[in-house]
Amino acid sequence: MSTATIPAGAARFLHPQGHVIDGRVVPSTGGATLPVEDPATGEIFATIPAGGAEDIDRAVRAARASFVAGAWSRADPAHRGRVLWAFARAIRDEAEALAWLETRDSGKPIAEARADIVGTAEILEYYAGLASQLFGQTTRVPGNSFATVIREPAGVVGQITPWNFPLYVGAWKFAPALCSGCSVVLKPSELTSLTMLAAAELALAAGVPPGVFNVVCGTGSDAGAPLASHPHVDVLAFTGGVVTGRKVLHARADLLRPTQLELGGKSPNIVFDDADLERASAGAAFGIFYNQGENCNAGSRLLVQAGIYERFVARLVERARAIRVLPPLDERSQMGALISAAHARKVADYVEVGLAEGAKRLCGGPPPAEQHFARGHWYLPTVLAEVKPEHRVFQEEIFGPVVTITKFTTDDEAIALANATEFGLAAGAWTGSVQRALRCTQELQSGYVWINNYNPTPVEVPFGGVKSSGFGRDCGPQAVDTYTTWKTVLWALAPFDDWYQQ
Ligand code: NAD
Repeated sequence: MSTATIPAGAARFLHPQGHVIDGRVVPSTGGATLPVEDPATGEIFATIPAGGAEDIDRAVRAARASFVAGAWSRADPAHRGRVLWAFARAIRDEAEALAWLETRDSGKPIAEARADIVGTAEILEYYAGLASQLFGQTTRVPGNSFATVIREPAGVVGQITPWNFPLYVGAWKFAPALCSGCSVVLKPSELTSLTMLAAAELALAAGVPPGVFNVVCGTGSDAGAPLASHPHVDVLAFTGGVVTGRKVLHARADLLRPTQLELGGKSPNIVFDDADLERASAGAAFGIFYNQGENCNAGSRLLVQAGIYERFVARLVERARAIRVLPPLDERSQMGALISAAHARKVADYVEVGLAEGAKRLCGGPPPAEQHFARGHWYLPTVLAEVKPEHRVFQEEIFGPVVTITKFTTDDEAIALANATEFGLAAGAWTGSVQRALRCTQELQSGYVWINNYNPTPVEVPFGGVKSSGFGRDCGPQAVDTYTTWKTVLWALAPFDDWYQQ
């Protein structure tokens, strides 16, 4: 597929005329727009509305009004489930158009964009099913009373999302919030807003009432910050980098309102010497190079045991070199372009820092500026060996197709190295030993552990981090905890006893 071939359906979403607020498409106050760049070519192919504090305020008011009106917040849960099913079906019906838009907007290979869109439908389907299963609790309590503990929607939810999995990671947020009966104001990344605007329109058509799912575009400072600090946002859920997460949490601390943070990672992927070398090297390559390495849970730190080190590293380099880095709309593409010139520079700079610190580059680096690499933002799959825990490339999130390798000897050493960063989002371990695997599941400081696999994040189970990777969980029934509150009601079963005996 070339950029010129727009799939049927995509044209409708290619030139959004505004935010989606209160069930209508409305331009920004003042009419400002932002350019949308194709990362693979540098071409500006669309514009999105550039929202600010006034647009955010309008959306929050609409969300509040819809929440109070109750058409969604107090609807039968089964009704919410049916609407979310219809929303999921609309996403599936438009899958090819949405995947094309996602690829042009983010630079990821079309095959991976298709997986994102199918994944988005699956997330909606899961929360459609969960909608009518959000039970409260009842119990007898002392004092001849009876308690009902009711789960209620938390209210108006603000959500701020990143550019790496624009719709898919966005759905991790909006699907459980809608399932819970909340009204949402979502601000997608200014770099990748097209599919979220399309999704808001599809949600409306599927029966989500006006004002319940609002999408306001804009930069982090102009639109994100006013959403995070808005006093009428009951819950704020954020996915993005640690630096921004800290700013968001400061704003929320001033309001004393709950916040969920899904932040970055520097995830270890441990290869023990009893691992299946073929599968482990395939999993290591997939773990870091999927989505150009622009993946919060990327297995960016490989820890490899001395006994298989040479053979493993040789096989990994072979695999990295074989990855087809092609224009992302080319069906053969296995790795696309990085999101922006600034980000590609950051990735390249990190590799230079690593080399200066003593790492050895075994493959990769910037491609020659020829053919499709002459335009857009590209970086080849890169393997850095001889990386030490004190190196910055071991400690800091690069968020690109760069994996570091560190050799270890004992299992104790592997666990210590794995836990030696501020992050704790995900981890992997490759081994033939149940004991080793079990030890990893217990001792790795991480919200997610893959044993003999890497990367899948099924919606049925929670996803989130510990340490500086954040708190709260996306996915699974646990995600609903962010978007609901508990109300305790105590019913007297006997006449009220007068404490004062009057
Ligand atoms: P980012 O922090 O730069 O931006 C994330 C979002 O925050 C964007 O919508 C941005 O506009 C907004 N924002 C920026 N400044 C803001 C401010 N002052 N107030 C409020 N909002 C603001 O992150 P990014 O570059 O878009 O995404 C990459 C980061 O996201 C990486 O660190 C990655 O690990 C992380 N991430 C985490 C997960 C996860 O589930 N843990 C998933 C995907 C990405």
